[in-house]
Amino acid sequence: MSDNEDLLARRQLAVPRGVATATPLFVDRANNAELWDVEGKRYIDFAGGIGVLNTGHRHPGVMAAVEAQLERFTHTAFQVAAYESYIELAERLNALAPVAEPAKTILFTTGSEATENAVKIARVATGRSAVIAFGGAFHGRTLLASAMTGKVAPYKRGFGPMPGEIFHAPFPTGIGDATVERSLEMLQTILSVDVEPERVAAIIIEPVQGEGGFHVAPAEFLRSLRNLCDEHGILLISDEVQAGFARTGRHFAIEHSGVESDLLCVAKSLAGGFPLSGVIGKARIMDAVEPGGLGGTYGGSPIGCVAALAVLDAIRDEDLNARSTEIGTAVMKRVRGWIDQGLPIANPRGLGGMVGFDMVNAAGHTDGVLTRATCAAALEEGLILLACGAKGEAVRILVPLTASDEIIGEGMDIVERAIARVAVTAPA
Ligand code: PMP
Repeated sequence: MSDNEDLLARRQLAVPRGVATATPLFVDRANNAELWDVEGKRYIDFAGGIGVLNTGHRHPGVMAAVEAQLERFTHTAFQVAAYESYIELAERLNALAPVAEPAKTILFTTGSEATENAVKIARVATGRSAVIAFGGAFHGRTLLASAMTGKVAPYKRGFGPMPGEIFHAPFPTGIGDATVERSLEMLQTILSVDVEPERVAAIIIEPVQGEGGFHVAPAEFLRSLRNLCDEHGILLISDEVQAGFARTGRHFAIEHSGVESDLLCVAKSLAGGFPLSGVIGKARIMDAVEPGGLGGTYGGSPIGCVAALAVLDAIRDEDLNARSTEIGTAVMKRVRGWIDQGLPIANPRGLGGMVGFDMVNAAGHTDGVLTRATCAAALEEGLILLACGAKGEAVRILVPLTASDEIIGEGMDIVERAIARVAVTAPA
């Protein structure tokens, strides 16, 4: 088998640079919270394929369900010939969804399709066109999703024109002047300067921003959004693609706030490593679109559906919501301890097992260069660690919730050493 260097050279010739990879390693195999590269080096995985592996690599229940499905059929297109696993998954998601009225679920393949289809549904249901999203948001890379994503480089630069009538308010990170009051004021400004509320179909928000830096939307802010939506007949969309399925200690991150959204976008950890996404929402809204208006060849693939059913079983049977809270508490305690020890980090934050913090330079400013160096130092020691945030300043922890205390401890030791190493070599 080729080694990492050979594969990197072949990749550079064969694959465009537009799809960037955070690490220079090539994977051979993986299990739960560990993976091995083609040279046999072992890594602890704190990235989980960007929040896809809350149940770990190759969860035994997921693998058994997929193997059984492979023996039956792999694809029919739900639009041609339907199957029970899709229906059963929709029923279970409808029952779990934090909405007080009857719900329905439609399945797709990627997170971007989930956010785009939520907007299509909201537009038909309201007869309106505009959408309000937030600075720092990430809703995907297809064109409408890119437009809703709240970061120009690298997600929008050069790809325009962007679809129209997408507006952004600041996300209340709680850092600096990014307060709830300011975000609400700016929302009102959008409604008086840019677009009348009667033309707004939806407000879309991540209850915990993923790519944007693991910032938690305060419950009072989500309540204010709900009130604003109710006042003007706007639909509230919760993008749970990264924060969902036990990552924050609940099936849906918005549950922490007690706020009900009208639509929920799900993907990533929903199917434990198989491509599956969906929109869950109030039935009267979900049924607005005429037959044929929604779908996709692979949407709700039978492999993805049985994988997702096994993921929901694993979350229930292994009590992964409680485990997420436990992991988050332990990780946060260590991160706060590092601040007490004088390591150059700040703004620890998160919900349950979704924990992030910023690297700061000698001047006390958040610093993406230090974060990149920390992730690189961690990789050398055998830990896959991802950055996020507006300037790549945050370290995010997305360890599988099925990881043992020993593996998590080993990974956190590496993070601590990586930060300490970077702190020593960083220019003042
Ligand atoms: N929404 C959120 C919150 C995400 O984190 C992501 C992916 N990082 C997406 C949407 C897009 O998902 P996908 O890459 O599967 O299209």
